[in-house]
Amino acid sequence: MEKSFVPDFADAGQLFDHQLKGLKWTAAHAYNGSPFYKSQFEKVGMTPDDITSLDDLRRLPFTMGNDLKEGYPLPLLSVPEENVVRIHASSGTTGKRKVLAYTQKDLDIWFDMFARCYEMAGLTTKDRVQIAVGYGVWTAGMGFQLGCERFGAMAIPVGPGNIDMQCQFLVDLQSTVFCCTASMALLMAEEIHKRGIKDQINLKKVILGSERCSSAMRAKIMDLLGLEDMFDITGMTELYGPGNGLDCSKHEGIHYWADKFILEILDPETLEPVEDGEVGEMVVTTLCKEAAPLIRYRTRDLTRKIAKPCSCGNILFMHDRIMGRSDDMIILKGVNIYPGQIDEVLSSIPEVGSEYQLHLERKEDGKDYMTIKAEARQFTDMTNADHIKDKIKKTVHSKIMVSCAVEICAYGELPRFEGKTKRIFDKRS
Ligand code: ZN
Repeated sequence: MEKSFVPDFADAGQLFDHQLKGLKWTAAHAYNGSPFYKSQFEKVGMTPDDITSLDDLRRLPFTMGNDLKEGYPLPLLSVPEENVVRIHASSGTTGKRKVLAYTQKDLDIWFDMFARCYEMAGLTTKDRVQIAVGYGVWTAGMGFQLGCERFGAMAIPVGPGNIDMQCQFLVDLQSTVFCCTASMALLMAEEIHKRGIKDQINLKKVILGSERCSSAMRAKIMDLLGLEDMFDITGMTELYGPGNGLDCSKHEGIHYWADKFILEILDPETLEPVEDGEVGEMVVTTLCKEAAPLIRYRTRDLTRKIAKPCSCGNILFMHDRIMGRSDDMIILKGVNIYPGQIDEVLSSIPEVGSEYQLHLERKEDGKDYMTIKAEARQFTDMTNADHIKDKIKKTVHSKIMVSCAVEICAYGELPRFEGKTKRIFDKRS
């Protein structure tokens, strides 16, 4: 039998025991190795010995994104520097980047986690995995690449963009799996359709990293490429990199690797746990990370916990797709709007496609206005545009409780990107 990367806990109780052991280890390791974490414990008058149950985690202070910037360039370092074998950095757009250090054991665990993603996506060692994400100091390329090698499939490291080479390798090497952002997947799907090479390629699965993908966008990509299945991989540089979880083939939620980190979902305002099913901020605590452990790290990513166990039978807990970042949250007329909610509304309307933009402006009357520019689905009858506009307005009003203006553009009119698509244009302030 091939090696499995999926843990075999008999029940949730066993997993919780494993988490408590990891939490105690992390507390002692971080306290003894990092002056920052030692002072965090001292702030609340605790020592690692005070951690006796999983509930004790909630007595510890949060670690914030800024704490990583203050300790630049090797924040949260909890091992001697000579034990660090690699660094990666986030693609932070403002100020200093977040730089994270790894020991060899950290790398091994990361690639095992990533191999688990490929395993749960149903790949075999016969698969050929074309990797179209960024290589370099970012975690994306290394994660997809070394996870693929650890799993034992064939990696084809093309990197992002380069559409001609992507198409050539899809045909010549008969790649069965394509890894990219959602925007790149849409671009490729449309390009393959345009070039008329669908019959010459052998693509079965697309694995998406790092960007939210609406149901409408998924449907479009699946259809144009004739795929068997499509998966979302979650992850962030602070937590090793991509490969922290994956929605299995049942697509009932994203299984996350609860044997490697504890996930809390908290109200970003009150910092108290939200009810199951409510949207909140993901807060993570690592269980075996050596170089830069995380204790109650506020990720800013928003999602919901899914309480129902997955019908695939795997007991690894699930959260919903990432709804956006709390930093991306729009406040319009006192209502909190997450970009993921707009995705959901538009995906429920069959006449609109996957592409849209949100424009926010403050008019002379001092009030804020939102305009949704949505692209019609291919072959939609545009004489019907007023009817589609009404439908969007009504659905937004009933689901999100705000009024908005709507513009419908023809299919293909909104720009396509190889990286992440910019959808929010806030011209207020
Ligand atoms: Zn499942």
